[in-house]
Amino acid sequence: MAKDKKCAHPSCSCMAREDSNYCSAYCEAAKDTTEIACNCGHAECAAKV
Ligand SMILES: [Zn+2]
Ligand SMILES: [Zn+2]
Repeated sequence: MAKDKKCAHPSCSCMAREDSNYCSAYCEAAKDTTEIACNCGHAECAAKV
């Protein structure tokens, strides 16, 4: 199985959960919203400008 699947949110650079296409519920909810920055709360993601 693909273990290093990236989150499907375009603005997110996190790795997705094994059981989801997204890293968090935030990204799953925001999948239809075009955002400049991701607010999933993951440090490595938020640190990206
Ligand atoms: Zn993110
Ligand atoms: Zn994400």
